[in-house]
Amino acid sequence: MKTRIAGRGPWLREAILPDEEDEAPLAGEQRADTCIVGGGMAGMWTALELKRRQPALDIAIVEADILGGGASGRNSGMVLSQWAKFQALESFCGTEGAIRLGHAFGCSATALDAFFREEGIDIEFRRDGWIWGATCMRHIGSWRGILTALAKHDLAPFREIDAATITAMTGSRAFLAGIHDPTAATIHPGKLARGLRRVVLKRGIRVYENSPMTRLDRGHPAVVHTAQGEIRAERVILTMNAWSTSIPELRSAILVIASEDAVTAPVPDLLEKLGYKEKPLMGDSQLFVTGFRTTKDHRFNPGVTGGVIGFGGLNGARFEGRSLREHVIRDCVRRGYPELADVPFADSWFGPIDRTRSGLPLFGALPEHPHIFYGYGFSGNGVATTPIAGKILAGLALGEKDEWSTCGLVRPPERWLPPEPIRYIGAHMVRAAIARKDRLDHLDQDPGPIVRSLAALAPGGITTSRVAKH
Ligand SMILES: Cc1cc2nc3c(=O)[nH]c(=O)nc-3n(C[C@H](O)[C@H](O)[C@H](O)COP(=O)(O)OP(=O)(O)OC[C@H]3O[C@@H](n4cnc5c(N)ncnc54)[C@H](O)[C@@H]3O)c2cc1C
Repeated sequence: MKTRIAGRGPWLREAILPDEEDEAPLAGEQRADTCIVGGGMAGMWTALELKRRQPALDIAIVEADILGGGASGRNSGMVLSQWAKFQALESFCGTEGAIRLGHAFGCSATALDAFFREEGIDIEFRRDGWIWGATCMRHIGSWRGILTALAKHDLAPFREIDAATITAMTGSRAFLAGIHDPTAATIHPGKLARGLRRVVLKRGIRVYENSPMTRLDRGHPAVVHTAQGEIRAERVILTMNAWSTSIPELRSAILVIASEDAVTAPVPDLLEKLGYKEKPLMGDSQLFVTGFRTTKDHRFNPGVTGGVIGFGGLNGARFEGRSLREHVIRDCVRRGYPELADVPFADSWFGPIDRTRSGLPLFGALPEHPHIFYGYGFSGNGVATTPIAGKILAGLALGEKDEWSTCGLVRPPERWLPPEPIRYIGAHMVRAAIARKDRLDHLDQDPGPIVRSLAALAPGGITTSRVAKH
């Protein structure tokens, strides 16, 4: 079947080749050494790492849509080091482990560039650097705790910069201060996701597309069922992002909330005039962070967080089509780049974010089922972290005790969210409080203790959570 392009976001529409076909769905009774459920970046990197470690391993990926059809093919393409989450990492992994993982995540951009160059795949990699800034007085210094924690270990991945420097670097006058990480990069999410798919197929990994898992039998071997078939496997690895909430053991570990992006047509002259052509990607210090980047062909790509909150299990179709919050994205553009406020969005879209309390991805085996593994909670930061997730999950699945499989991100599923409908109602209350706090912060007004306490329950995202404990 020819791969569907209509209805998909712009990155996938651009990256799916005209003659590309879907892999056939799972049919009949099949076997595999390892079955990966969910073919986003996490699933694909895991499959490739397993194959690298054990070339003879028979690996199958069972994917509800097409490989890369989930969040992996519709993100903002920001490749960020995870140093901004150092405190959370330290609390989970200890100082030594946090520094090691911090360096590993920090090297991801370079590793991605090298990997795809070697494969001859252009992912539009650009080393732009990242500015994490403050757009109101109350947000100045949001990063100070991180800098202090890093400085204790002589780590200085960020440089503090003032408003004038940010304007000189980006053309935006909205930022009052910030920090700069020169290692961050941007990529084309569709080209990365679909490029990865081509490598997966080239390595002989079996792929079943349009095959949503309908049931998982947890015996040994485990059996993954789909509408037309089943696959029996020694081990199963669940890399289903927000859809992991369909697994009862993971349901109370993940809060699903949408992020939205928009993109203009190419505006090279305008970006040049503004001083934002091929310049750093940016994020503010709101709890619902907003950000900007540009593409290789000079489109302007703003994004906002804090969208739709999923109720219980998720239906992927909810995330199809244009963003319903274009007006929110428009407001964010008006604040950051008023000169671009009237440039139409050529497209907009949204996708699910699998937030953990800390903002860190977590891994392990399902309790009582040591042959069924999970990786979830990339919390809006999957591009740099999923290659490392692949190493962690491959190590766990093969029973290899290495620096990855024994790291502090390997732990039982968290149980921090109440059951529905309490969680849905509670999440909406927290979301309303966050939005109010972000708005009042910009008016230099105190939101009061109730809003402050509710907003403090926000899970982690691009930066570390205010409640990063375990
Ligand atoms: C709008 C947006 C902007 C973002 N921006 C950035 C960014 O700039 N930088 C960054 O690092 N990260 C960003 N992210 C986050 C990043 O995209 C994710 O963290 C990453 O894609 C996670 O990869 P994954 O493989 O876990 O998830 P996915 O790519 O979502 O893969 C999960 C797969 O599981 C499949 N699946 C679900 N249920 C089943 C089932 N029952 N059976 C079989 N398959 C199933 C889905 O179809 C999907 O393909 C953004 C996300 C969004 C939505």
